[in-house]
Amino acid sequence: MLGKMMTQPLTISALIEHAGKYHHDTIVSSVETTGEIEHSNWGTVAGNARRLAAALDRLGLSQGTRCGTIAWNNRRHLEIYFGVAGAGYVCHTLNPRLKPEQLIYIIDHAEDEVLFIDATFVPAVAKLRAHLPKLRHVVLMGPPNDEAAAAIEGLLFYDTLLEAESDTYIWPQLDENTPSSLCYTSGTTGNPKGVLYSHRSTVLHTLGGNQPDGLAVAARDSVLAVVPMFHVNAWGVPYIAASVGAKLVLPGPNLDGESLVRLIETEEVTLALGVPTIWMGLLQALAKTGSKIPSLERTVVGGSALPTIMIPTFRDTYGVELIHAWGMTETSPLGTLNQLLQKHQTLSDAEKGAIREGQGRPPFGVELRIVDEAGAPLAEDGNTQGNLQIRGHWIVDTYFGQEQPALTKDGWFDTGDVATIDPDGYMIIRDRSKDIIKSGGEWISTVELENVAMSHPGVAQAAAIAARHPKWDERPVLVVVKSDDTLTEVELLKHYDGKVASWQVPDAVVFVDALPLGGTGKVQKNKLRESYGEMLL
Ligand code: AMP
Repeated sequence: MLGKMMTQPLTISALIEHAGKYHHDTIVSSVETTGEIEHSNWGTVAGNARRLAAALDRLGLSQGTRCGTIAWNNRRHLEIYFGVAGAGYVCHTLNPRLKPEQLIYIIDHAEDEVLFIDATFVPAVAKLRAHLPKLRHVVLMGPPNDEAAAAIEGLLFYDTLLEAESDTYIWPQLDENTPSSLCYTSGTTGNPKGVLYSHRSTVLHTLGGNQPDGLAVAARDSVLAVVPMFHVNAWGVPYIAASVGAKLVLPGPNLDGESLVRLIETEEVTLALGVPTIWMGLLQALAKTGSKIPSLERTVVGGSALPTIMIPTFRDTYGVELIHAWGMTETSPLGTLNQLLQKHQTLSDAEKGAIREGQGRPPFGVELRIVDEAGAPLAEDGNTQGNLQIRGHWIVDTYFGQEQPALTKDGWFDTGDVATIDPDGYMIIRDRSKDIIKSGGEWISTVELENVAMSHPGVAQAAAIAARHPKWDERPVLVVVKSDDTLTEVELLKHYDGKVASWQVPDAVVFVDALPLGGTGKVQKNKLRESYGEMLL
């Protein structure tokens, strides 16, 4: 016997229909490539998503066709998210910071037939065009533009395509397992791999990730998605904002601290999401401008480890609660979020802060475990470190274009992170398995060494790496950007006294002007190892 309830497929078109109908006049703010702020609303976005779907049908695409985007966070990009997927095509976001040969590889591998681009990227795409034989249409995200038309043969214009269509388009009834979007991993080793999300996984991620102990976005929020729309679907924020009808603020190309402070003030942002480097920039801008950003209640930080010093700074100086989250392209991305339990409510601010430094607990819908090298589950005691594995409704099964599932025999995805899990389920990332330092058979967490360095007032940024060592195999070396010119190696190493075991103190400090950052703002430790990995030999 089966239950006797309606069955409706979980589709992305249902999300935008909800936002368009029940939150039609809620504002969507978008910073355009020109720097101007445009105010639209969910009703307009929903209507334009339908027009875009009609325009794509008219281009004669077949179901599942990949439509790439090289674009900032803005209103048209939002419409593309919903219009492309809703019509049964796949929205493939590309990271504009990749090198031309990487973009060519990914566009070719994904077999993108349509490419939507912001005006900023016309010169770059004009150069790539000849290398992309499978691409049929390039669409400039804006009104007609003669200069761009001269640069790219056959260029189409987004606004013209939409003007030709009506917003009465009826969404197709798709199977909920139809693919909806595609995102490639950053691929620090080997070629990037594609993760092909489905309507079902995306809707379940939307519902599961937005529970009260998750992102907890509500209709009364004004949400600033600093995290790029090309970084794992902006962590799902566009879908989540649509599902609850929150005001959405899309910052366009200007992600420096001062632009963000202005945007938070003018758009009365209550919740903002981004990687740690973004919040470091914001803190510096706040210190400079003296602004207190009173509207901001919460920021969600993820993508790389949160420097512990940020929690008290945001809390005590600006009254902003900082929520640490962990995830990856393969996990849609929300895997854990750090919120406190009922039993923590009577703790002091410092004790609460200490719990919140970790990456947090899984929401309903995903499960975590740690295992040893042989794949046997390890104790969740908060001390034992192991390889972090995950399974759930929005976790990759098989990479795009591959035959073999990417899972263990018993159905878990190995994240490549090394973590501890405590009896309450709080997970702490100790390292990437390829970054962790193995000194004389003992593991040293680079994250821990970096946190100690960052707590020194003379340090602006720090990265710990494994350098090869004749006796211990590997020893830690610290690469540091100073914020105080007078800081010396001796003084910084002395700062480790009593904070880590003596054998974990780095062997050397290298001072540099800047750390190499990848396209999503993470420190590229492989590059640092190339430069400094042999310095102790
Ligand atoms: P990506 O697929 O590019 O988003 O990268 C995912 C990887 O980023 C994870 O496997 C982690 O190594 C790292 N990462 C993401 N969030 C965090 C976090 N909150 N703390 C530490 N590492 C993180």
